[in-house]
Amino acid sequence: MAIYVALGANQAAQYRGKTVTPAETFLLAVERLQQFGVDVLKTSNLWQSPAWPDPDAQPPYINAVIAVETKLDPHALLALLKKTEAAFGRVAAKRNAPRPLDLDILDYHGQVINYDGRTMRKGETLTLPHPRMLSRPFVLMPLAEIAPNWREPVIMRAITGWAARLALEDVAPMKRLGALLVPSTK
Ligand code: ADP
Ligand code: MG
Repeated sequence: MAIYVALGANQAAQYRGKTVTPAETFLLAVERLQQFGVDVLKTSNLWQSPAWPDPDAQPPYINAVIAVETKLDPHALLALLKKTEAAFGRVAAKRNAPRPLDLDILDYHGQVINYDGRTMRKGETLTLPHPRMLSRPFVLMPLAEIAPNWREPVIMRAITGWAARLALEDVAPMKRLGALLVPSTK
């Protein structure tokens, strides 16, 4: 078991006075996580998908998943992810607004925290596994690349089982762009 973190972006970010694309943002963000005690074990490809709910209203999303290891507990890791989002110019905005960087903890060594297996509610409270990950092709596809044997830790359904439940119309437009090349720290 490992710790899995999802990255997403559909807007250029401002970082140290420069404008950076989502793919550059991911590299810089991962470097920053490494500086703050997060070891990167594996990285997926970058995946592109249309913005939801209206693909014409926003640029497409770029997503990836990384496997990491850290001494930070889940709460400290979430705090670091939020600080990192802010460092790339993310501000609290409306639901589904375009964003320069979204960092989510998908799974932390199978820990189950504030999770009832049903609620898709968005709250500030750390929830593990990430409650919305199982219906998101842009999370399941990259996660399946680096963790094909992953199981949802509550009912232990395999990732292939979750992927099979996705709507074809959501999976079909996804494009695999190429590797997120991050120097591994392990
Ligand atoms: P999403 O990531 O689903 O698109 P947001 O990024 O807007 O939504 O996240 C909303 C809130 O979810 C964050 O403020 C964060 O505190 C909370 N949250 C709860 N559990 C997690 C988790 N496992 N990973 C990341 N954020 C989480
Ligand atoms: Mg998030």
